[in-house]
Amino acid sequence: MFQKILIANRGEIACRVIDSCRRLGVATVAVFSDADRAARHVAMADEAVHIGGPAPADSYLKGDAIIAAARDTGAEAIHPGYGFLSENPDFVEAVEAAGLIFIGPSAKAIRAMGLKDAAKALMETAGVPVVPGYHGQDQHPDHLARMADQIGYPVLIKAVAGGGGKGMRLVEAGRDFADALDSARSEAKTAFGNPDVLIEKYIQQPRHIEVQVFGDGTRAVHLFERDCSLQRRHQKVIEEAPAPGMTPEVRKAMGAAAVRAAEAIGYAGAGTIEFIVDGSDGLREDGFWFMEMNTRLQVEHPVTEAITGVDLVEWQLRVASGEPLPARQEELSITGHAFEARLYAEDVPAGFLPATGRLAHLAFPDTARIETGVRQGDTISPWYDPMIAKVVTHGATRAIALSRLESALVDTEVAGSVTNLDFLIALTRHAEFRAGEVDTGLIGRDLDALIDAAAPDAGARALAVIGLAGLADPSVRGGMTLWQPLRRTIAWDGGEALLEVEGPGAARVTLDGTPHEVRWQGDRWWVDGALRRNRIVRHDAGTSVFGGRTVTLAPLDPLARAGEAAGDALTLSPMPGLVRSVHVKAGQAVKAGDRLAVLEAMKMEHALTAARDGVVAEVLAQAGDQVEAGAPLIRLEEDAEEAA
Ligand code: ADP
Ligand code: ADP
Ligand code: MG
Repeated sequence: MFQKILIANRGEIACRVIDSCRRLGVATVAVFSDADRAARHVAMADEAVHIGGPAPADSYLKGDAIIAAARDTGAEAIHPGYGFLSENPDFVEAVEAAGLIFIGPSAKAIRAMGLKDAAKALMETAGVPVVPGYHGQDQHPDHLARMADQIGYPVLIKAVAGGGGKGMRLVEAGRDFADALDSARSEAKTAFGNPDVLIEKYIQQPRHIEVQVFGDGTRAVHLFERDCSLQRRHQKVIEEAPAPGMTPEVRKAMGAAAVRAAEAIGYAGAGTIEFIVDGSDGLREDGFWFMEMNTRLQVEHPVTEAITGVDLVEWQLRVASGEPLPARQEELSITGHAFEARLYAEDVPAGFLPATGRLAHLAFPDTARIETGVRQGDTISPWYDPMIAKVVTHGATRAIALSRLESALVDTEVAGSVTNLDFLIALTRHAEFRAGEVDTGLIGRDLDALIDAAAPDAGARALAVIGLAGLADPSVRGGMTLWQPLRRTIAWDGGEALLEVEGPGAARVTLDGTPHEVRWQGDRWWVDGALRRNRIVRHDAGTSVFGGRTVTLAPLDPLARAGEAAGDALTLSPMPGLVRSVHVKAGQAVKAGDRLAVLEAMKMEHALTAARDGVVAEVLAQAGDQVEAGAPLIRLEEDAEEAA
């Protein structure tokens, strides 16, 4: 086993790797950017080395700086985590040339799976079923269109260099093909510097089922499957293991195909073979097809750990340090069921826009395994993946594990940024999901209902008013005696309510003209007669109500409001990204809500819209510009200018 390793990553995965190292007595070196000086992974590691500026290109993607840090600190090996340099074969070669060990597969194995078209061709030869389609060299649009006709619509266009759902377009009919091809190619060109695509039959009622494999460079075993069908725009939201409805026969067939795939490329370490599965009529031995291989530890690896009892990071370290595979296939088995939910700082009603903020309050229940890279007081910056935590639960059956996931999410508390927490809670209550009827279209079909079920309701807002007024503080709740009703206006950043205290444990809150009767006893709260599962928490950024339908009310800040009012003439970039397109010209009249520009960031495209009606005074950015968070993009004429 190694004495000391360096972790070339940040956030929850860096912390996750350090956890296993500690248990194994392996010393750890963290690396960090300017934005991460005070990050959790830096605090957890035995040593930490500063490697550059906040942009990934200036730090976490700087292979030479990372290798130098490893040599300077005497680390023997580098763990890449996921993302960043984890699937970069040139980095693997540089690590090895420096006399260090890369904890992962060989550069050759990564290259073999790096492009989806070549990987599919290779898998066909290895006898692994691949999705029917065209993955040849001829990229002429007419040829691709003919291939699409031949495959039969609907088809999926995929960037051969793709990842994270980018450069992918579903095409329902031939007349839409040319446009979809154009936009897929241009997205792929920007994201991966490679515009080439392949075309696949779009599998109906698709399920995403992937198999965890582990190799020693010659032989491989599999650690069963994970179902990652709960996706939004091809991005995983909740994952589980094993897959609902899996039969021993199909599991055996998928496991064998995955092991064949790994052995075909001499795979070493942890990897994942992703299959697309036809879920229209149960799972079948001839109803799954290879999509791609991820040659790294996967984000959702904890669900596999939960059902197998294996620590995959420990296995990675053992195999990389020269030990044999820790278990034979027949020694591996499944116990119970596990779920993982990805908790993100994102604005769900605004279209899941990545959010930022200082986590004024952060608390997790001890009933779940929590993988996180942040602590209370830390900031979710615009520079990196806005993940806050992964919440992982295990139980003897799927129903038990799922109800544990629901409770763990209800007991999770985040304030200081909007999150997808309540959306995740709504998902755990979704009838089809509860019944195990999953497919990749589930979230899309019920998106509006799920967003509605996650939105703050009047009851939660009334409780937040009580909290903001200080009535939920334990000292007040215990000893308060009031001789007469107390009537006052409670104002916060964005609204106000009338509060009438009616006596100890009783108040009326009038919100938007509707009165709500609030009663309380100890930690129990009733609104309009209904017992609420909410908790009221005061923190240094205001007051929050948790327990589903989270509400946070921030105290009034007159300065900030003045700034906002003056600032609505400027459309600023909400995060660092690439300006994809600009849709207005100087002098053009726009209405509130009109699309001004499209920004590509965090793997998604975001439409930036006009905050108010007006006339465009100045266009400050153009398509192709790389912009920082807060960069001005479009300026509208001030009202005075307009009148003149
Ligand atoms: P996995 O296949 O391991 O579940 P994903 O497919 O979700 O991971 O993501 C692929 C890669 O993109 C991962 O290596 C991860 O680091 C990175 N990634 C995931 N989500 C984001 C995000 N919101 N922004 C930037 N990168 C991300
Ligand atoms: P990425 O590299 O972006 O992860 P994948 O090839 O793994 O790309 O596909 C991502 C997701 O897109 C899958 O999880 C699945 O939901 C969907 N998908 C991919 N291929 C197909 C297909 N042929 N038919 C239906 N859905 C598909
Ligand atoms: Mg994938």
